[in-house]
Amino acid sequence: METGSADKRIWTWVSEDGKHAAAGMCPGSAGTKPGGGGEEQPYDDHGRYLGTVGQGGVSGGISGGSEVRGKVTKPKEEAQKVPTTVIWKNAEEAHGLKPQMQDAVQSMRRDVSKLDSVLISSGRREPLGAGDPHAEGRAVDLGRINGIPVAGLETSTAPGADRAREAARNLGDWAKENPDVNQFIGPKGGWNKDGKGNITPLAPAKQKVLLDGHKDHIHINVFRK
Ligand SMILES: [Zn+2]
Repeated sequence: METGSADKRIWTWVSEDGKHAAAGMCPGSAGTKPGGGGEEQPYDDHGRYLGTVGQGGVSGGISGGSEVRGKVTKPKEEAQKVPTTVIWKNAEEAHGLKPQMQDAVQSMRRDVSKLDSVLISSGRREPLGAGDPHAEGRAVDLGRINGIPVAGLETSTAPGADRAREAARNLGDWAKENPDVNQFIGPKGGWNKDGKGNITPLAPAKQKVLLDGHKDHIHINVFRK
């Protein structure tokens, strides 16, 4: 099988300095979800995208798709995407994220095509100002996409830059569809989503300060619930 060592790497959340930063292992985060040890389970259960086997979505004339066991070649890359590796700049900021923020991160990991890794440069943190959603555990900032700094992503000529740019576009598309995400801001602009799913772009003139503050990272924010 293609599993084994790869799984260990994929399912470990690491910090930039190499220390483990698995959400849910911090006593301080226990209040966000009852059940303690059960908290880890969703990451393992949903860390693997199950693809289309058994859902009738397998092309190529295979009948009885539910009988197929792992040998089907999927036509679409996203059907067998390796979950995105999450690297935390500050390990302690992995703790205290709201459940809906954790869900959004897990959804991002399995559903955003070509997104191989992200550096979360900020997660749950002390308030930077009034109403800072990071302080509520409702936001993460992505400082790198596939290892490439968001700040120079659009003009980067580094190896993998094209793939990273495509991943960033896919990330934006995913965010619009994800039911938990209500705000997305990065170097290329941003938007707010209301409770009905309507998206309103941030206005460059009116929201200049906000947009200028997101030239070197992508901010993903979830509903309060
Ligand atoms: Zn942010």
